[in-house]
Amino acid sequence: MKAVIDPARCQGKARCFNLYPSIFGKGPDGKGIIVRTEDLDTDELIVDAQSAANACPRGAITLVE
Ligand code: SF4
Repeated sequence: MKAVIDPARCQGKARCFNLYPSIFGKGPDGKGIIVRTEDLDTDELIVDAQSAANACPRGAITLVE
């Protein structure tokens, strides 16, 4: 499972990378980027990514297989 960000939806609200910097980062344009490009291979990472998706005010984060 991996986290993905829809750049068309993201408006750089920063919640994802402030809350979960092991998975998300701040891109050069201020928008969120994925820094954890490998599989989310622990329950903790999956829970954190799901929490980030829930916290994103733009609904820009999804988890994909
Ligand atoms: S929380 Fe959502 S809107 Fe904010 S930077 Fe992350 S993906 Fe973008």
